Amino acid sequence: MFVQVALNLPFRRLFDYALPQGEVLPPLGARVLVPFGARSLVGFVQGISETCAYAPDKVKPITQILDTEAVFDASAMAFYQWIADFHAAPLGEVLTLALPNALRKAKPLAPMREKKSTETLSSELTQALPLNAEQATALQALQSHRFQISLLEGVTGSGKTEVYLQRMAQALAQGQQVLVLIPEIALTRQMIARFAARFDDTDSPMVVLHSGLSEGARLNAWLKARAGEAKIILGTRSAVFTPLKNLGLCILDEEHDASFKAQEGLRYNARDLLLVRAKQADVPVVLGSATPSLESLHNAQTGRYQHLHLTQRATQAPLPKVKLIDTRGKNHTLGLSADLISGIKKHLSANRQALLFMNRRGFAPVMMCEGCGWVAECPRCDKAMPLHKALNKLKCHHCEYEKPAPAACPECGSTEILEIGQGTQKLEETLQALFPAQKVLRIDRDSTARKGELEAALTLAESGEAEILIGTQMLAKGHHFPKVTLVGILDVDQALYSLDYRATERLAQLVTQVSGRSGRESDQGEVLIQTAHPDHWLFDQLLKKGYPATANQLLFERQQTGLSPFTHQLLIRAQAHKRELLQTALQSLKAQLLGWADEKGLKIQVLGPVPALMERKANQYRWQLIFQAKTRQPLIQLADWAAHITETDKAFSRIRSSLDLDPSDLD
Ligand code: ADP
Ligand code: ZN
Ligand code: ZN
Repeated sequence: MFVQVALNLPFRRLFDYALPQGEVLPPLGARVLVPFGARSLVGFVQGISETCAYAPDKVKPITQILDTEAVFDASAMAFYQWIADFHAAPLGEVLTLALPNALRKAKPLAPMREKKSTETLSSELTQALPLNAEQATALQALQSHRFQISLLEGVTGSGKTEVYLQRMAQALAQGQQVLVLIPEIALTRQMIARFAARFDDTDSPMVVLHSGLSEGARLNAWLKARAGEAKIILGTRSAVFTPLKNLGLCILDEEHDASFKAQEGLRYNARDLLLVRAKQADVPVVLGSATPSLESLHNAQTGRYQHLHLTQRATQAPLPKVKLIDTRGKNHTLGLSADLISGIKKHLSANRQALLFMNRRGFAPVMMCEGCGWVAECPRCDKAMPLHKALNKLKCHHCEYEKPAPAACPECGSTEILEIGQGTQKLEETLQALFPAQKVLRIDRDSTARKGELEAALTLAESGEAEILIGTQMLAKGHHFPKVTLVGILDVDQALYSLDYRATERLAQLVTQVSGRSGRESDQGEVLIQTAHPDHWLFDQLLKKGYPATANQLLFERQQTGLSPFTHQLLIRAQAHKRELLQTALQSLKAQLLGWADEKGLKIQVLGPVPALMERKANQYRWQLIFQAKTRQPLIQLADWAAHITETDKAFSRIRSSLDLDPSDLD
């Protein structure tokens, strides 16, 4: 007998293996261990046959049958198959993504021993709150048990979570499972606490799935979800793959958030996948946000989604006052305007906290020689290499290359080296110098890289012990800091004139979200935005009319310029160590694809081959082809054909390529 196996390799075909004499037949969907070249791989049985297209002595035998049952049931398999087809990806790749790490190895499909978490939740059960009129209307509109997509657009603090909780209670009462996706691990803590406080964990056990879990903990949570024992499944992006026995409701919070889109490997969008999942399971799905993405707004406006609104804050807290600080021609202390500094003083003396927000993910300043203009650049990437003060090192954020910071300019020997640009570390230093008696706390990826650091920082921030908080986008989302009454936003100007057409949308979302961090309790909050472009229409619109009107204006622009959501794109990325290789291969791919599209009568536009915004990264050249069409369908077909060519054409044997349907950025 022969077995057809799906493997996690960049080929979409199945691979044949022989079943050793006397071995029992593995069930379809079971995992098997098979030899592949010198390697040993875990694959999935997709078919069993008596004959095989290859000479029987060429076919290698299976090493081991790992499971006595299918790993995924039929409905989960249908979902994964859809994902594979949609992304023109190998089924084996998708199935591997759907497995916890432990099961990607030859481990049995059984719980592992795990260290008990020391975290204790003060789970004093809270009651459902009496809903205000808008919340009640929204909940009423969410009563369907069948597939329906609802966009819950509610200003920060309007009580969206309360609406989720009450709709969840209904599904849980029916014994159904609820899948809740949130953007980042950083957010899970407050969400877990609220869910745990609402739902008695003996009746509705909850599991949490995110990348910070140990292998054993993740496996056990996954097994409970698959068996239907876990009723609430709360997780980040990849939790959308979790097999579930009895799904009754899907919720995706902060639906505009960019982290739902995977930026490497299989470039899936968890939001899109969740919608498909809900459709296949015929259950409702709720997308929530204070600042919906233009894609979702467009779908709501064209009637594909039900559009629900919460326009008022649920508590007495008034929305903050937002002001612009014009930075032109004024004195600054290392990037901080006098107005912002006095604003911080005012709020601190009222015994409140200030949160300063900088949109650069922990970017440290760059070194530049005052004598000759030399700038420290990464030798392997087309990028400057930022300085990490504490380590006295230059460290590339794109390839991790690092070296000691030079004491003198390597070009001209001058020791007059400037640090240009503001980063969160620099900002921390500046603020600590300005406010020596106060505790300044920076929360970004660098400061929270080690286990436990993020927890500790958030606790300090929540308690009010740290008086000045500095954060990157990590802090923009959903956190509730009761004593923050001033939010300062720095360094927004580059987004106004960015090459990336989504930058303005992100800026509008960011300003609105970050502003929502201010004055969440009963005090009047204040938001100060530093900019050299106070007359830009985006600020005018945002401050006078708010996010919905701004989003509509941005949608209008997208329509005029023929961009997403009015068109769809397929981005083909390719990289190799030689530029010429890429150019030739992509030219040939383009010609083949256009010829094919022409034959099929598909209406498709193409741009490229062009170099990526960062052409060289870690010594690899990066080029791309961009196809555009009015609908997704022709692009899905095109992706399928492109995958076929890159898998089989010799020109691609030394090139790594990937497909990205509806890319969220063009780098
Ligand atoms: P969102 O998710 O929209 O940001 P939350 O659900 O976190 O808003 O609600 C903000 C605050 O308002 C929370 O402290 C919450 O307990 C409170 N809240 C929500 N709904 C109500 C209500 N109906 N009555 C009183 N307080 C409410
Ligand atoms: Zn120099
Ligand atoms: Zn580099």
